[in-house]
Amino acid sequence: MKFTLSATKQEANDTFSFIFAPEQPLQWKAGQLLRYVLNHPNPDDRGAERYFSIASAPHEKHVMLTTRFASKSSSFKKALKNLRPGDAIEAHDLEGDFVVDDSKKTFVFIAGGIGITPFRAILLDLDYNKKPLNVQLLYANRDNDFPYRKELDALRGRHPEFRIDYVVSPNRIDEKSIPQLVPDIEKPMLYVSGPEPMVESMDETLKTIGVPEERIKNDFFPGYEWP
Ligand SMILES: Cc1cc2nc3c(=O)[nH]c(=O)nc-3n(C[C@H](O)[C@H](O)[C@H](O)COP(=O)(O)OP(=O)(O)OC[C@H]3O[C@@H](n4cnc5c(N)ncnc54)[C@H](O)[C@@H]3O)c2cc1C
Repeated sequence: MKFTLSATKQEANDTFSFIFAPEQPLQWKAGQLLRYVLNHPNPDDRGAERYFSIASAPHEKHVMLTTRFASKSSSFKKALKNLRPGDAIEAHDLEGDFVVDDSKKTFVFIAGGIGITPFRAILLDLDYNKKPLNVQLLYANRDNDFPYRKELDALRGRHPEFRIDYVVSPNRIDEKSIPQLVPDIEKPMLYVSGPEPMVESMDETLKTIGVPEERIKNDFFPGYEWP
């Protein structure tokens, strides 16, 4: 389907959101993703297609993707950055089960940097639908420039049950810090989202500290490094 760019927004130093109007109304569940095709001259070996989580919640009506730009971007990201309002991109294959079906459960969301995107959608969706935010968000970043920080803090202001722990490098969300940050790890569902190496190592960590596989849900972003 054709999506038309309506606006861009800077979320952090190197992180930008792209807000699109779909050609036809699109229905999705908070946390799902789309495959984008952006044809551009001389694509590099990574090609013209990318997956991005839908960072907007369904009630926002528009589709927003948020991405981080490296100092040496792929040709896809360069072309994305050059889009201007009114320009079009193709998006297909709505999919993904990184969603919250039962908001009565308790959750720990673990985000590594840009991995925060599906969590923004899920948290805003719960808030809009007047559901409790039975969520503890552990949000790790390279520096203090956390994408969506203002929005997340505003949600926390409205929901005393919602807890956020911002973890700035060199501090880590790891085997040592998780039991301190989440003393009651026996009950919650753990959702992990971020660069592939971070999600893989977090999966091992969680299993090492005794979280069974059925309480872990992963969403990993290939193509990024993790310190
Ligand atoms: C389910 C899913 C959801 C996702 N959701 C998101 C999301 O919400 N936001 C998001 O940003 N990403 C998301 N991704 C990841 C996204 O699809 C890209 O893989 C990622 O953004 C990296 O983009 P890029 O390949 O254009 O590289 P860039 O971001 O441009 O660069 C990343 C690194 O690769 C290096 N690099 C760039 N080009 C090349 C090249 N041609 N050859 C070798 N190295 C190169 C850069 O120097 C840099 O170090 C998701 C992926 C999946 C599978």
